[in-house]
Order: sequence, then C-alpha cells, then structure tokens
Amino acid sequence: MRAAGLEIWKDASHGHLMAQPCAQYRGGCCEAYNDRPRQCRNFVCVTLARFEKGEVSMREALRLAELLREKRRFLNGLIATHLPEFADRPLREALRETKRLLEIRNEKEAREIQERHGELLVHTIAFRKFRKEYFGQAGGGE
Ligand code: SF4
Repeated sequence: MRAAGLEIWKDASHGHLMAQPCAQYRGGCCEAYNDRPRQCRNFVCVTLARFEKGEVSMREALRLAELLREKRRFLNGLIATHLPEFADRPLREALRETKRLLEIRNEKEAREIQERHGELLVHTIAFRKFRKEYFGQAGGGE
C-alpha cells in the first residue's frame, strides 16, 4: 500500500489505518481502483449494499454521495472558524476533538463550550449520523 502512495499508520484500537483523504482519491475517483487494498475491496457501505439489492437507484446513490461532500465542506468551514488549529489537519482529528469537547462533564466548562462551539457540535453530530446511516459499513460498524 505504501508503494501505491498510501499513508499507513497503526492505531492501538483499530490496527492498521489509511490516512484520509486517501492519496489515491482524485477527481472523485479511485486512481488505484484495480489495485486498491483489500480493506477497500471488502468495504461495502450501506448505500452500495442497497444499490446492489436494487433498493437505491444510481441517481439517488450519487445524490447521497454529493450530499455527504456538501456536508463535509460545510463542516470544514465550521472547523476553520471554531477550531482553526485543526483546519489543515485530517477531518478525523477535528472529529476526535469535538468528541472530546462533548465529553466534558464540568458544568461551567460545558456551558462555555456550548456557547462558543454549539453550532459546530450540533453539525458534527448530524454529520456523523448521516455518514454512518448512508456510508457506514453495511451490516454495522462505521
Ligand atoms: S478505494 Fe481505497 S485506495 Fe481507492 S481512493 Fe478509496 S480509500 Fe483510496
């Protein structure tokens, strides 16, 4: 995978992970599609699984994919405003930070975070939910 220009790192809880956005993803397509890694071949998202069963049309699947890209662009804008230190870093790092902010238990601090970053937190939750519902691993997982 490294030979194909893919950045790999090891995570204690998930094993080997590929950096996203993937270096092979260009112009809306996978440049390494025929030689894509096993993980990519095995990953079937909810929308693809439903498309293969004839439950979703190609047009609807493409509309959902564009909607996800729109939501991501919007979220990136909020991240640039609310968490500028994460603006140029992979989205997963900003999402991890928003998760951490949501876990703050101290009432005073939680209220301050709500006031300062409420919009970001609401849209992050909505983005995660949408991504999992339509583009999470079919049959469970994310
Ligand atoms: S299918 Fe895999 S290799 Fe291809 S762009 Fe997506 S993540 Fe990258």
